[in-house]
Formats: sequence, structure tokens, C-alpha cells
Amino acid sequence: MSDSTVGIGLLLPEVLGTYGDSGNAQVLCKRLQWRGYDAEVVPVSLDSALPSALDLYLIGGGEDMAQVLAADFLRGSPGLRRAADEGAPVFGVCAGLQILGTSFRGVDGVDHPGLGLLDVVTAPAEQRAVAELVVQPDLIDAPLTGFENHQGASVVGPGSSPLGRVVRGTGNGDGTEGAVSGHVLGTYLHGPALARNPDLADLLLSWVLGHSLKPLELAEVDTLRSERLAARRPR
Ligand code: GLN
Repeated sequence: MSDSTVGIGLLLPEVLGTYGDSGNAQVLCKRLQWRGYDAEVVPVSLDSALPSALDLYLIGGGEDMAQVLAADFLRGSPGLRRAADEGAPVFGVCAGLQILGTSFRGVDGVDHPGLGLLDVVTAPAEQRAVAELVVQPDLIDAPLTGFENHQGASVVGPGSSPLGRVVRGTGNGDGTEGAVSGHVLGTYLHGPALARNPDLADLLLSWVLGHSLKPLELAEVDTLRSERLAARRPR
């Protein structure tokens, strides 16, 4: 990979690939290429070292035991913390959000330490949240949509801000959704989230490139998004 290529780290897709969140890496790669940038997805698996020189890191959702395995691996990988400390964006979905937090309680009742990149504590809720989720985010104007499938309820502490407010669905469980600290962002939105929400993809890319981006004119993407939003109006 040359120095000018944007490296998109896809962390542990073999462990946290259950909900199709690996597609987020493809979306970011394609949106960069459409704008004339060289970009490459770099999968990082359990048997490899985690490079700190990538431009952005993605962590997807998965099952409870997979999540504990992934959290142990990532806590033992200084590369991710080093990159995040230097401002590299990190995007986590569901299990990824919970791992980025300070701790998450498994269904076994055990509290597992997270990476502490977000001020978020997660514990199982009484009911599993399985639904379409619509969120009004604070950082961008457009509503976000996706599907959620999780037992965990998350509390965002003062060191982070929620990504937004739940319009429909459960999210964190208290009317808020996701969490953000600097360039670290976590959400319960699957979809993949960045395919369903191009503005969120471009927010992450603006953090990578250090400047805002002109929207891409992609009629099909806009039509699909309007159809999804119309189908998901709050009831
Ligand atoms: N195991 C976690 C939970 O149920 C995460 C699930 C997921 O990633 N969709 O809360």
C-alpha cells in the first residue's frame, strides 16, 4: 500500500462479521475512489498484528462470546489505541460500540473491560432490541436508519456524547443512540450503516481527510434512502 493510499482497517471480520458490517469498509473505499482517492480495505484477523498506521478502523457486531474474544484481542493490541490517540477515526457497530466503551456485562453476568475509547458502560437489558432503528443525530442533519439486534443497553457518561436521539426503536435504551468522543464513534445501527447513511460515511471520511466533502451525486443511492425513510416513519 503506497503512502497516498487511504488504509481502511477492517478489524476481525471473521469474528465480528455476523451482521454484515464489513460492508461499511466497502462503502468507505468506494466513496473515496469515486472522489479520485486511492483506497484499500485492510482486514486484520486474530492471527495478525494490528497496524497503527491505517487511516481509519472499523469494528462490527457479533455474538456475545465472539465479542469477548474480540475485546481481549483488541485490548492486547496497542496499535489501535496508538492510532486513536493520534486522531485516527474508529467506527464501531453494536458489539463494536460496546467494546469501544469502558465495560460491557455479558449474559454470563461478568463485566468485561472494553477499550475505554468511549465513555460507555453496557449491561443486558430485560428485553432484546430487534427492530428498525431511526435516529436524529447531532453531528449531521439527515436522520440515520438501520436495524438493531442486541441485548445490551448502554449508558453514555460525561466523557462522550450520544450520537443522537432515538426517533424509532431502542438504541442505547434511554432515548439516546450511540456515542461519540472526538473521532471515535459507536452506534447500534446495522445495515450496513454506512450504505444506508451516506452522510455518516462522509462524516467519517471528512475526519480521515481533514476537510469536509462535497456530497456525491448518486441518484440511485438518494432514491433508495428516501424510500427507506418513507417506510420507517415513526408510528
Ligand atoms: N452481543 C451484543 C448484544 O447483544 C452485541 C450484538 C450485536 O453486535 N448485534 O448486546
